[in-house]
Amino acid sequence: MKKIALLGSTGSIGKSTLEVVAQHPDAFQVVAMAAGTNVGLLAEQVKQYRPELVSVGTAEAAAELQDLLGAEQKPQIVYGEEGLLAVATHANASFVMTAIVGSVGVAPTLAAIEAGKTIGLANKETLVSAGHLVMKAAKEKGVAIIPVDSEHSAIFQCLQGERREDVARIILTASGGSFRHLRREELTGVTVADALKHPNWSMGAKITIDSATMMNKGFEVIEAHWLFDLPYEQIECVLHYESIIHSMVEYKDRAVLAQLGTPDMKVPIQYALSYPHRMPLATPPLDLIKCGALHFARMDFERYPLLRLAYACGKQGGTLPAVLNAANEVAVARFLRGEIGFLDIERIVERVCDTHAVIADPSLEAIQAADAWARQEALSAW
Ligand code: NDP
Repeated sequence: MKKIALLGSTGSIGKSTLEVVAQHPDAFQVVAMAAGTNVGLLAEQVKQYRPELVSVGTAEAAAELQDLLGAEQKPQIVYGEEGLLAVATHANASFVMTAIVGSVGVAPTLAAIEAGKTIGLANKETLVSAGHLVMKAAKEKGVAIIPVDSEHSAIFQCLQGERREDVARIILTASGGSFRHLRREELTGVTVADALKHPNWSMGAKITIDSATMMNKGFEVIEAHWLFDLPYEQIECVLHYESIIHSMVEYKDRAVLAQLGTPDMKVPIQYALSYPHRMPLATPPLDLIKCGALHFARMDFERYPLLRLAYACGKQGGTLPAVLNAANEVAVARFLRGEIGFLDIERIVERVCDTHAVIADPSLEAIQAADAWARQEALSAW
């Protein structure tokens, strides 16, 4: 029985993780879970999965959860940053699924590594902000970090049994996001509702907007750099509209291995949980005849300037990727609140990155300071 601590149980990845657990009650058990504000859903989850420890965002949310659970449900309830750390390091869990959104995931992920837990990593902002610290800590502790992002899971699967030095390049596929049919000049005035309509995947709001700006692919490039220890020159992106090929690895002999499947996050989630084995999963099988054709196009860095910026920030390193991430988190939140337009996201992120004085090889404190600075800048930028 694999005992799991789940950070972000009420989100898109969190809910899919629980669906996977429900399909394999003899193999997986959730012993701790954390969420932010969605106390109603969390209460339902607690009743069904019966974790020992639960964390919510605030003391008020903790009291509300206690009320909703009634007398017969008695998990320990904690809250805030301390609560997240308690869930991430829960003594009875051997596996931590990091499915919260944003750089708030850095500290609990580092704490889980320190406590010797295997990490199922969905929270890409953690590796973008603090990749050097996370990978160093994992190496020192001998902890495995198993990717959950569909692209990185695909690459991870294509690397099994191969020698790293035989890899020529990895190719990340990108759907193009909600506005892929629009030219740049047509992006002025697009609405939040339209931006949230992803053509192939059903995901949380923030990553759906990141897909539309291609910031998501930029984060994935940085994530791949850290996960697979590859220089940026060996990481490429290609547009692939159907999201059937989840990513590819090209080897020295020009053999290309790809991982394909119906776009369903439960597949990479379950692979992370069951690795190195595979288990049955109730999801529609891939119907290649129905797909008919798979389409590809060259990545357009003029159309998607945030992808180019992500490569530049990743290559420069230091505190810059953390600043890129934090400025983007704030700009996307402002867009979702209707305060700024869609194209303002990239304008604000570019401006904050341009004005940052980069610190090389930063400590966690330096990263947190850069993150806080970038949030303040992005909040006031217009
Ligand atoms: P969602 O927005 O759907 O869910 C985010 C989760 O994080 C919610 O459970 C939310 O709780 C919780 N949360 C947010 N802030 C806090 C906090 N401060 N303390 C505790 N919990 C918090 O996001 P997704 O599931 O879409 O994405 C999660 C991560 O996985 C992201 O990093 C994303 O980039 C990555 N990812 C997602 C994919 C997807 O298909 N969705 C694919 C690949 C990667 P609440 O709602 O209760 O406030």
